[in-house]
Amino acid sequence: MDHKKSGFGTKCIHAGVFPDPTTGAIMTPIYQTSTFVQEYPGKHKGYAYARGKNPTRSQLEGALAALEGAEHALCFSSGMGAIDAVIKLLRPGDEVITGNDLYGGSYRMFSKVFENYGIKFHYIDMHDVNHINEYVNDNTKLLWIETPSNPMLKMVDIAAASEIAKKHNLLLAIDNTFASPALQNPIALGADIVMHSATKYLGGHSDVVMGALITNRADLHEKLAFIHNSCGATPGPMDSFLVLRGIKTLHLRVKAHCENGRAIAHFLKNHPKVGRVYWPGFEDHDGHAIAKKQMKDFGGMVSFTLKGDDFEAAMKFATSVRVFSLAESLGGVESLVNHPASMTHASIPAEERRKAGVVDGLLRLSIGVEDTQDLLDDVAQALDLV
Ligand SMILES: *Cc1c(COP(=O)(O)O)cnc(C)c1O
Repeated sequence: MDHKKSGFGTKCIHAGVFPDPTTGAIMTPIYQTSTFVQEYPGKHKGYAYARGKNPTRSQLEGALAALEGAEHALCFSSGMGAIDAVIKLLRPGDEVITGNDLYGGSYRMFSKVFENYGIKFHYIDMHDVNHINEYVNDNTKLLWIETPSNPMLKMVDIAAASEIAKKHNLLLAIDNTFASPALQNPIALGADIVMHSATKYLGGHSDVVMGALITNRADLHEKLAFIHNSCGATPGPMDSFLVLRGIKTLHLRVKAHCENGRAIAHFLKNHPKVGRVYWPGFEDHDGHAIAKKQMKDFGGMVSFTLKGDDFEAAMKFATSVRVFSLAESLGGVESLVNHPASMTHASIPAEERRKAGVVDGLLRLSIGVEDTQDLLDDVAQALDLV
């Protein structure tokens, strides 16, 4: 059955996957093979060599396309592998306009790898999307947008950015990792490419590293698939199985992440030792109206500072939590605390980082799906020790 009209939860469980035709196994088998037998050269059942295509991965790609309401998806061995493939659509001399609050690894790849190949990146504040127009010239080819952004939870209006992209004939790519397809579907808002670090909410259990690109455009899919197979950042069948398994509870997990995120954000906001709290569900968050318009809920990511942006206090909090763990990454069932300035965003120069609000006292929480009260109690006891 084609699940185009099914609800999101039904899609999570059924879309793209089908029982194994040889055995009837209801769960997608892990086709742990590098090659496939051919009857004579070129005559095979659609699979020749597993870098190019593997049946476990193909079902995952079908599922991911369905979750984003699109026709095509490609899975990569990491989120960075997926971003790398998008930038490889460009040529020396081309320019990219992107946000000034990005995942640290994206910033590092753009500035330290692709600048060397003659591609120019503009890191700008996109709160007012019209700002993008000021940076467009004849060489501009791509808008790379992360919304909500990491770690400041800034919002960019995807539909408005898409108008600008269409006007100037630019590709619009959205890093949808923070929202997950459960909360935001950029293709319907006019994006050409949706990127995910499937390591995060899609996998959901902190046991796999994977990336994905999803598009509705057959021409783009063909170009990306060529880069995918030629450059080879493709994932194995075991990892594909783990993400397929994770997706089956995506709708349930994200609902719980959002509920817990809401509770923790409000608790922090009312706490006397806390400075600023960044969570798009607050009416005074400068992206609240955009979040309400383009997301189904506000997600499980909350960043905050302690009063005075005190680095020592932030360290004390990060090392005093007991239910939360101090670790990089996000989107798993377990709650994590991260210190962006020294961990996920350390590759961004301090001056750039502070300009974007990533001060030395900032902490980022990935709120898991544990019992809400246990998380609240943990945050409270750690704040008592600060
Ligand atoms: C983690 C992350 C990435 C990179 O993905 P990996 O799977 O770690 O390679 C890209 N963008 C965002 C927003 C991320 O959180």
